[in-house]
Amino acid sequence: VFLCLWAAVSAADNLKYKDPKQPLNARIEDLMRRMTLEEKVGQMTLVERREASPDAMKQYFIGAVLSGGGSVPKPKASAADWMEMVDGIQKAALSTRLGIPMVYGIDAVHGNNNVYRATIFPHNVGLGVTRDPQLVKRIGAATALEVRATGIQCAFTPTVSVCRDPRWGRCFETYSEDHTIVQSMTEIIPGLQGDLPAGSQKGIPFVAGKEKVVACAKHFVGDGGTTRELYQNDTATNMKDLFSIHLPAYYDSISKGVATVMISYSSWNGKKMHANRDLITGLLKNKLKFEGFVISDWEGIDKLTTPPRQNYTYSVEAGVLAGIDMFMIADRFPEFITNLTTLVKSNAIPMTRIHDAVRRILRVKFVMGLFEAPLADPSLAKHLGSQEHRELARKAVRKSLVLLKNGKASDNLLLPLPKKAPKILVAGSHADNLGFQCGGWTMEWQGFNGNNQTDGTTILAAIKKAVDPSTQVVYSENPDASFVKGGGFSHAIVVVGEVPYTEKFGDSANLTMADPGPSTIESVCGSMRCVVVVVSGRPVVMEPYVGRIDALVAAWLPGSEGQGVADVLFGDYGFSGKLARTWFKSVDQLPMNVGDAHYDPLFSFGFGLITPPSNA
Ligand code: BGC
Repeated sequence: VFLCLWAAVSAADNLKYKDPKQPLNARIEDLMRRMTLEEKVGQMTLVERREASPDAMKQYFIGAVLSGGGSVPKPKASAADWMEMVDGIQKAALSTRLGIPMVYGIDAVHGNNNVYRATIFPHNVGLGVTRDPQLVKRIGAATALEVRATGIQCAFTPTVSVCRDPRWGRCFETYSEDHTIVQSMTEIIPGLQGDLPAGSQKGIPFVAGKEKVVACAKHFVGDGGTTRELYQNDTATNMKDLFSIHLPAYYDSISKGVATVMISYSSWNGKKMHANRDLITGLLKNKLKFEGFVISDWEGIDKLTTPPRQNYTYSVEAGVLAGIDMFMIADRFPEFITNLTTLVKSNAIPMTRIHDAVRRILRVKFVMGLFEAPLADPSLAKHLGSQEHRELARKAVRKSLVLLKNGKASDNLLLPLPKKAPKILVAGSHADNLGFQCGGWTMEWQGFNGNNQTDGTTILAAIKKAVDPSTQVVYSENPDASFVKGGGFSHAIVVVGEVPYTEKFGDSANLTMADPGPSTIESVCGSMRCVVVVVSGRPVVMEPYVGRIDALVAAWLPGSEGQGVADVLFGDYGFSGKLARTWFKSVDQLPMNVGDAHYDPLFSFGFGLITPPSNA
């Protein structure tokens, strides 16, 4: 009896897959050998945190959990609250027979943006302007720390789409219309995951431990080339365009060790990407040698039928056979699990396909050290919204601004503005609104307006801090012309733009700025010298107003650190940004990208005036 007991205990201690000294593949194969079909299918299942009860985690062996949209454990949750929630789910996963840890993901697309008090970095549309991959890498590293500060180990970022038409509602999530800029910005991946060790084999996923996160290049492939309309959109391009415009950023992501790739809702020439075996298995896995795992988008397979969810068995089969490894199932996981299990048992899906998926998922979990350190590290909580990260975000804001006009032909340059002036006017719907400044994917899926505030500095507050104490700053959201004329102001700053949106809610045919933006420009700039700062996720219609405006600045969606805008307006730093998108004259010209035959923009791709720092 004693001998038997001794043998059992030492066998448990010697489980190969639990031994970090074993080679990676030995660990994977040892664990694979021990797993039942139910445990394997569970690894392929990614559910929303609301569904991740301890019972569900244990009963279905669920392998991954996410916060969808702005899903938070409670309003204003602290780092400790997040860690407690994530660890609670993890402990349920660890209590299963084999104790395989789950991985938790969140849409940290410009900082850990769902989380109260996180640093909110500029959206990618602004980061492309900086042309500074090393800065973007540092932002990746800061984001990784702020994600880990909440106990979370995976971030569904970066978006490496090449947005070819700003009418698409996700343009702001993309770095540029030019694929070479997007490619250079994949430097965010080593920021998020850590630098690949020298001599690494191409395609092997890499995540350097507890201060780094699993990254996700998305959405494979061609989402930026669609003819708008998010859910049923199609990328009608030839093979050459798909390969030369939309694919190159995936080469870079893979050679930088990206751990996961998310599939796009879009189709390519009528074929839904979630069922595209040639591109997922043939190209991404076989040709490009991607060895991480492929994730579906949120209910992505449901949309394989029109209308969605018509034949779930078909959807599961098509998605798995196409080569998707992990399925973002949201709330219908029992159905996914029973369908997939039945499909395997009936040989409709070969076991080899399941093994490919599970090996890939386990590989990432082993590589990142999740088996050794599955729980949150409270010492990382201090990074959430740290001063250091806010300084980095402020710097990124400064570098993301593009000066499109500075003075009319007949008069002097307006920028940089003097810090000392008797009285200045600040106007516009976007001057004092942190939610507008942050855009979509901030606190809530569609961004926030008024409610659900977080920490940060609005552009108005930043202007007040930047000017000389003797300068009087008068703020009026939408003043009329007589107020402006009679106010004795030396100059005005008008901040207008778009209100937050994302995904299909951002699709727009007219690309006009939000009301009363145009009328504020009219009454202020018609009456006195003015700088217009546009806060938007993409170029908006400006041609009718630009003649009236003295100076024009594109600020994109700068995030929580509005001081970056004031730093440059008042000359502590110079303007240096260059457009990473074409600024159209009229929407009738769209799509219009640099290099097109009939290129006739208001401001060309690459344009941006520079100013030297004058007050520094
Ligand atoms: C988006 C993805 C996102 C996912 C999870 C989807 O609607 O398309 O980009 O990662 O939701 O929130």
